[in-house]
Order: sequence, then structure tokens, then C-alpha cells
Amino acid sequence: MSSDPIRALGLTDDPRFVAPEKLGGKSAGVHDGVAITENPATGEVLGGVRLDGSAALDRAINESIEAFKKWREVPAPARGQVVRAIGEEFRRVKEPLGELVSLEMGKIRAEGLGEVQETIDIADYAVGLSRQLPGQVFPSERAGHRMFEQWLPIGPVGVITAFNFPNAVWGWNAMLAAVCGDTTIWKPSLLTPLVAMATNAAAERVAAKMGHAGVFKLVIGTDDAVGKPMVADRRLPLISATGSCRMGRAVGQAVAARLGRSLLELGGNNAVIVHSDADQELALRSTVFGAVGTAGQRCTTTRRLLLHESIAEKFTERLVAAYKQVATRIGDPLKEGTLIGPLANAAAVEQFLAAVKAAKAQGGEVLFGGERAAPNGLKGHFVQPTIIRAPRSNKLPIAMEETFAPILYVFTYKDLDEAMAMHNGVDQGLSSAIFTESIRASERFLSPTGSGSDCGIANVNAGTSGAEIGGAFGGEKDTGGGRESGSDSWKAYMRRQTTTINFGGKFELAQGIRFE
Ligand code: NAD
Repeated sequence: MSSDPIRALGLTDDPRFVAPEKLGGKSAGVHDGVAITENPATGEVLGGVRLDGSAALDRAINESIEAFKKWREVPAPARGQVVRAIGEEFRRVKEPLGELVSLEMGKIRAEGLGEVQETIDIADYAVGLSRQLPGQVFPSERAGHRMFEQWLPIGPVGVITAFNFPNAVWGWNAMLAAVCGDTTIWKPSLLTPLVAMATNAAAERVAAKMGHAGVFKLVIGTDDAVGKPMVADRRLPLISATGSCRMGRAVGQAVAARLGRSLLELGGNNAVIVHSDADQELALRSTVFGAVGTAGQRCTTTRRLLLHESIAEKFTERLVAAYKQVATRIGDPLKEGTLIGPLANAAAVEQFLAAVKAAKAQGGEVLFGGERAAPNGLKGHFVQPTIIRAPRSNKLPIAMEETFAPILYVFTYKDLDEAMAMHNGVDQGLSSAIFTESIRASERFLSPTGSGSDCGIANVNAGTSGAEIGGAFGGEKDTGGGRESGSDSWKAYMRRQTTTINFGGKFELAQGIRFE
């Protein structure tokens, strides 16, 4: 680590920040209106953050509405220039901010920096978009009429984010929303409030300097005091929420009850199919990265491996050998050479252990891992990357759930129909992959009839994890149906208006209706 990122990012000067020595020895969690955040690799307290309540939320929404009224008047390309400057600011703070992501969330340094890079990339993307936001023109059936649609700013957007991408998920939302003419009010996870403070401050600092204070608001509070009231607030036409399916169900229903719009990015249970004719080296490397990267705490983490019976045994042996190697590289995420950092907190370790126990009780065989880990005596929340082979019946109910930890369940299939049924037989539908050299197998997986992968992301000879920002990101079924990032995801942040102009001057109705 280059320096103390908390100090380098100016967080110690933020009035909400409480220094560790002033926390009376309390541990991570919410105590007396302060969220205490820790380094998950060491258990060391990083600091406290004074929480906002419902009054602060109400104030932030009112201020955001005022900022929105001004921001939407700024031409979209000029909004893009502000986003361009924000991207430059993230380039400037990339190193300390990426290290803070590692320090507070636990992903390895390369991934922490990569996460900030993702925000920079989406800012660049949004700058280009600011000169497009295109609507369509349609031929009118009426003479002397012209018909088209335009896309308009929708209003302040409520953004709720998960702990595992504490910077980039905000970036995906806030950078697109900003060029679309919307302001954002962000409620981050209470596991990563410091990254949220540094991130929002960087954007708001630039916006304020360019005369647009208030475009980016941050409200840090509990779900009861801030999250739920925010979701229920009719002044926020769109709630974009990233997190577990449980959260999405609650948020989706609350927003629907007020007929608001929600954009849900929820849990995944992603599978890789390795077919009989796959390039096994490629499949192996992609599976290991997909399953153990970010210690299994990505929404796109590979959680299920479906192996053709003809290659299953050999492939599994190679997989276990690869896990033996990566397991020697568990450790401090900020240390060079570490490949696997800790889980988010003690509760996540308990969930990991409970899933392993359930898998064993259901007939699963632990081929590797399954235990806590304590690399170099570190007191953090480490676990071993784990491989569990399903029983011959392929019945393993625990594998139907998303456990946010590095557990890979291995299944065997006879033919592609069976593989597809297993693949699609879970509630979530985020990311998926097949490894094959056969065009028939890959086309079966990507079938244009929709009978192939039922996920929002379907890759061939590329793993489930590690999407680029240029495409739309998101998933189907219990993953929530939302799309963020590239393609036409920006449309979620705008409202569509269909317009007909009668330039001919004659009264004429559609469908040939006469009303004389
Ligand atoms: P979580 O559901 O516990 O929390 C996510 C956020 O929702 C937090 O900010 C939390 O405070 C808030 N929240 C929870 N209940 C709420 C409610 N009723 N009203 C308002 N806000 C509420 O998730 P987590 O543990 O932080 O993150 C891990 C989960 O996120 C995993 O399931 C993972 O797959 C998912 N995730 C999905 C994507 C995606 O793009 N699909 C990306 C990252 C993470």
C-alpha cells in the first residue's frame, strides 16, 4: 500500500468521520448512531461514520430536487463535460481510492484499482453518450404529421448499493444518470461507508467547482431510518437497487406499491458448462478465476460447474490441483501476490460454514477446502476456496442458493439437454458460460428460440465473471431483470415521450376515424 488511503482521501477531515481511538474500543457494526467499519483482513477498526436519519434523507431529497431543476437545464453535452472532469478526478485518486476499496471491502489490490477503473470507464462512456441519447422518428399515418420520441430526464434517482462493488456500482448509476440530466441520492452499504464518502466527495467536489453543487448526494443510514423511507418516497421516480434477491423483493414491492420505477440488480447463481470437446486449459483457468476471484463475492461468481461425464474426472482432478495452488495465496488483499482476500464479515464466514455443512448433509463431497483460514495468523474473515462434488443423483438443494463465498459445486451431465435443464434449474439468471469447440453446442446454449441459457449474460469460451462496461449488465428471473452500464441501459434513467406534430394544419385522426 502506498500510503494511508483514509488520510490521503481527506476522510479524516469529513465531519461525519469518527477516528478509531474515539470509538471506545467498540467493534464493527452500528453503535449509537455510528457505523463502525473494519478491515475484514485484520479485524482492525478503520473508523466510524455518523449516520444520517430520516430528517437528513428528507433534506437531501429536497436539495436533490432543487439541483435537478437546474441540472436538467444544462445541455446534455455540457453535462457530459462535467462527467468528463469527474472521470479525470477518479483517475487522480485511483490509487488511494482503489486501496481503500481493498482495505474496507477486502478485494485484492488489483481488483480494488480495477473497480475504480470501471468507474473511470463508465464516465468515459457516459461522456460519449451525452452527445447521443437518441430518440426515433416514425412515419405518421396521417398526412402533414410528424411523429417521434424524445428522452427526458426523469428526476432524482435513489441509488442503493451492495458492499462488494462499493465504488463501481455507484459509478454505473451515477455517471449515466448525470448525463441523462438526473441527480442521484446514494444509500451505500453500511459495510463500506468510507469508500462511499470518498467516492461521492470526488464527484461532488468537481460538480460544485463547475457550478453544479448538489447533483450527487450521499445519505448513509440504516435500512429502517434511510433505506426503506427512501424506497417508499414518491419524490424519487426511479430506485436503482443492487444487492441480494431478498432485498430486491422488498424494494421491488415497495416501489411498485407507489407505482414507481425500479431497476433491480440482484443475486446470481452462475454456472459454467464444460462440454466434452472444450479447450480444457481455457475452461480451467476461467473457472478458477470465476469461482475464487474476489473470494467468491461477485454477483457473477461461478458457483456451479457442470461437467460432461467424459471429462469430469480428469477435469475435477486438475481443478483440485489448481485450488491447492491458489489456496497458498490467501492473505492480506493489499499485499503483492495475494489472490484471495477475506470475506466481508464474521456473518459471511458463518454462512459459508453453514453452506458447507448443509452440502455434506445433502450428500455433497468436499474435494477441497470447506474450512476457515488464517493466513499468516491474520485475524480477519478468511475461508478456504472450496470445491464440493454433488452426489450422483445431482440433487444438492444448497447449490440452488447463492452463498456469497468461494464455494464451487460440481455436477456431471450426460448430454446437453440435461446440462441445460440443470443450468436453468435455479431461481437466479445473471451470468452463464459454456466451454466448447462445437458450433452446435454453443448455438444450443445461445439458441435464438430462447431455449438455451436463461441468463442476462451468456458467454462462449469466456467465464461468468468480469463483464465489460460496453454491454448491458444484468440478469433475469430472481436477479431482477434490470440492466445497467452499456448498450441502451441509459434509457432506464430517462422518461420517454412520444410526440406528434401536425404541421399540415388539417384536423385528422388516426385509424381513419371521422369526427365531423
Ligand atoms: P444486501 O441485499 O444485504 O444489501 C444491499 C443494499 O441494500 C445495502 O445497501 C442494504 O443496506 C440495502 N437494503 C437491504 N434491505 C433494504 C430495504 N428493505 N430497503 C432499502 N435498502 C435495503 O446485499 P449485500 O450483502 O450488500 O451484497 C451482496 C449481494 O448483492 C449478493 O446477492 C450479490 O449477488 C448482489 N449483487 C448483485 C449485483 C448485480 O449487478 N446483479 C452486483 C453486486 C452485488
